[in-house]
This record gives sequence, structure tokens and C-alpha cells, in this order.
Amino acid sequence: MVISCNTGCGKNAVLKRPKTGDALCKECFFWAFEEEIHHTITAAKLFNPGDYVAIAASGGKDSTVLAYVMKLLNERYDYGLKLVLLSIDEGITGYRDDSLETVKRNEQQYGIPLKIMSYEELYGWTMDRIVEKVGRKNNCTFCGVFRRQALDRGATLLKVDKIVTGHNADDIAETVLMNILRGDIARLQRCTAIVTGNEDTIARSKPFKYTYEKEIVMYAYFKKLDYFSTECIYSPNAYRGHARAYLKDLEKIRATAVIDVIHSGECLSVREGVKLPTQSICERCGHVSSQPVCKACVLLEGLNKGRPRLGIGKSSKVQERLGENHKKEVSGKDSQGSNHVPNGVALEGHAEIKSLDF
Ligand code: SF4
Ligand code: ZN
Repeated sequence: MVISCNTGCGKNAVLKRPKTGDALCKECFFWAFEEEIHHTITAAKLFNPGDYVAIAASGGKDSTVLAYVMKLLNERYDYGLKLVLLSIDEGITGYRDDSLETVKRNEQQYGIPLKIMSYEELYGWTMDRIVEKVGRKNNCTFCGVFRRQALDRGATLLKVDKIVTGHNADDIAETVLMNILRGDIARLQRCTAIVTGNEDTIARSKPFKYTYEKEIVMYAYFKKLDYFSTECIYSPNAYRGHARAYLKDLEKIRATAVIDVIHSGECLSVREGVKLPTQSICERCGHVSSQPVCKACVLLEGLNKGRPRLGIGKSSKVQERLGENHKKEVSGKDSQGSNHVPNGVALEGHAEIKSLDF
């Protein structure tokens, strides 16, 4: 049975929009999808004319659609933005090397310049080597902490004004659920913010905050965008997987579950008097941190000293010890009075680089 596009444009519908249930033709779906993102961008005043904006690009569907739509809206509505693709090479053979090839093609297809930062150059370690040391259990902790910082370092190097990421509505709803399940009040409070950052950091925003993952996939499919869809060989984050499965179950009985969870997250407020971590600067690398030494420096120290479990889990003792070591490094002596060799290859000369711990 042929169904006409619900907008009354006269064409036949080819899809049912997951977000609204409307039967639409391709063109009307594209228009609705793009206009909603434009509305999100303008309602939250994400950019100012003349901004230099880095698009965090992995070659996956979200960031590929983000790059495409950012370019399109920048031209359609004359945002006046200068765009750059910023990719992180974690050093995962058979995964990231292939996905970066996609980003290199996107660079040509969209005419947006590309900058790649690698863990190897920043930290002296690739994820392949980290997995050799730590195994498959905590690898994503290393990868996530390093990536967050690597993006900030890349953005600082490029001197961009803002970073945009392809986090979509499903990602944000999953994060709300994960933070509730973990009782992580600090993250719960900021995970629904469309812009994160403070005066010391480069602002990060999520233009896809209200965009359904299913619609991003549909858009990429109907636009025939060139993206990479293979999963990381070092397995996805198991805990997020549970939140994702739970959210999918909720969606089966309530189609609006994703947006409802985001709205619930936005409406939560932390009771007065509840102690929240304060953000300061890492004593070692100058990155924003809620501890004296940031997580990336703790993890790196563990790797370099052959004790990769050092930064896994919470331990104020680890922090105290690293803080002590740092004081010795500054004075150039360790407890035996010998000269101390600084352990972070890439941490040297990065004192000005800041990040936000999501
Ligand atoms: Fe890194 Fe884990 Fe994601 Fe693989 S699944 S890219 S190891 S965070
Ligand atoms: Zn640090």
C-alpha cells in the first residue's frame, strides 16, 4: 500500500520517523532532521559568528552525520563558522586505523581540514600496547580518560573556540541512567548539559542532544554518507551496554523513553549542602581535575612503572602518594636523593592544557 508523505508535499512516504511516528518522504525527513538540529543550536546559542569549531570525528555514524550537518547548516544559515575535523588515533590495529581512513575521505568529501592526534605521540602508548599490559577488563577506562584529554589537547593546539561531539539523545539518556545506578551525583548533575566547560576549558557542545540514534542511522543511510560501522575490537563498555539494553526495553513499552529520561535528568537538582567535587588543576599536567593529580597522569604513571592497576578504582592513597612524588619531582630529587626522571613523555610542555572531566 502506498502512503503519502504526512507533510502533504505530494510525494510517497518511504519511512516512518522514529521520533514522531510520521510517514515521510526522504526530502521531508531530511528537512525535519536538519531543522531540529538547527533549532537545538540556535535555542542554546551554541556558536557565535566567527567561531573556529572542532568537530570530534571518529569516522562512525554520529560524527560523520555531525560533520555533514554542521557544514550544511553553516552554509544554509550563514553561521559564519570555520570548521575543522579533529580525530584521535588510539592505536587500535584493525579498528581505528580503518575508521581513520573514513575520516580522511570525509575530509575530501566535505572539504573540512583534518587534524589527527595519537595516543602514541601524546602518551607514548598505543591502546594495543595498553591492552597487552592491562588485559581486556579495564582497557576502556584508559581509553576514555586519554581520549577526553587528547581531544582537549588537540583543540588547544588548533586554537579552536569550541568543540562539538556527536553524542546523541540515546547516549545522553544512557549516561543519565548509568549515573543514577552508580549514584554519581556530580556527573548526573552535568551529563544533560548541552554545553560543558568553564572559563579555563574549551567549551564542548552536543548539537545532537535531542537527536535519536535511529534517525541518525536513517539519515546516513538515505544520504549515502561514507561512515565506518565496525565495533572496537577491544569490546564495548559493558556497564553502558546494560544501560543501553534497559533503555531499549523501556522504549518498547514507551516510545518517548529516551527524551523522557533526558528531561528527567535535566529536572534533577542537587540538594543544598550535598558535597560535590571541586574542579582544580592537575599538579602535573595542568589539566582540569577534581583530584590533585588527574586520572590521566595516574593511569600513565601506572603504565610507565609497570603497575597498570594503579589508577583503577578510587584510592585517595594513590592520590596522596602521587602528590608526594610530584613535590619531589619539582625539587628534582626522590626519597633516595637521586635525580628523578619525569615519567610522562607527553606531559612535558603541556602545562597550559586543560580538560573537563565529564
Ligand atoms: Fe577505546 Fe573501549 Fe571504545 Fe575500544 S571500546 S575505542 S578500547 S573506549
Ligand atoms: Zn594530569
